[in-house]
Amino acid sequence: MIFLGPPGAGKGTQAARLASHLGVPKIGTGDMLRTAIAKDTPLGRKAHPMMEQGNLVPDDLLVELVRERTSEGDCSGGFVLDGFPRTVPQAQGLEAMPGGDPRGFVVFDFEVPRSVLMARLSGRRWCPSCQATFHLLNDPPKRTGVCDACGTGLLQREDDHETVVARRLAEYDARTFPLIEYYRSRTRVVVVDGDRPMDTVLHDLVTAVGVRA
Ligand SMILES: [Zn+2]
Repeated sequence: MIFLGPPGAGKGTQAARLASHLGVPKIGTGDMLRTAIAKDTPLGRKAHPMMEQGNLVPDDLLVELVRERTSEGDCSGGFVLDGFPRTVPQAQGLEAMPGGDPRGFVVFDFEVPRSVLMARLSGRRWCPSCQATFHLLNDPPKRTGVCDACGTGLLQREDDHETVVARRLAEYDARTFPLIEYYRSRTRVVVVDGDRPMDTVLHDLVTAVGVRA
């Protein structure tokens, strides 16, 4: 299963819930990179300086990471990809893997109105002391601007400032729309209305996978 959609669409959360519902691994490239760096693997040593400088990790490195992971035994019954592919070259890399035929995948395209994405992303706050996260609309702290757990003043991540959010969404349009077209020409793409309660969205995903199987 492949999840496409803009930042803030809820893909990561739903990918985790669907994987757990189906009893298959969720393969998150972000998590895998952090693990590779922590374990100091050859791949981790390559990726570390790029991530530290805020650069995107090259497509071929991510493809290699996913190829290694999906060849492990626990992936034989299927898997959920989270955060990959994000570009057409990554999708081509996936297609070249054993079992990578796009027709064997269920591709979800999360659609959420831009105003909702802006509100979701720019409403995030976090505690610099204990790393707890809050959301002004969905999960506000008990006292305005203060961490429930430790009382530290909450901050907004640089990435979640409105101007940065607008830039991230524009980058998404430029990079991922071609990817959606790529999959539309190869397999069935299931459009998911991501502006609904989480359980309703999950129910749709499970149904779409069931129809396929
Ligand atoms: Zn805290």
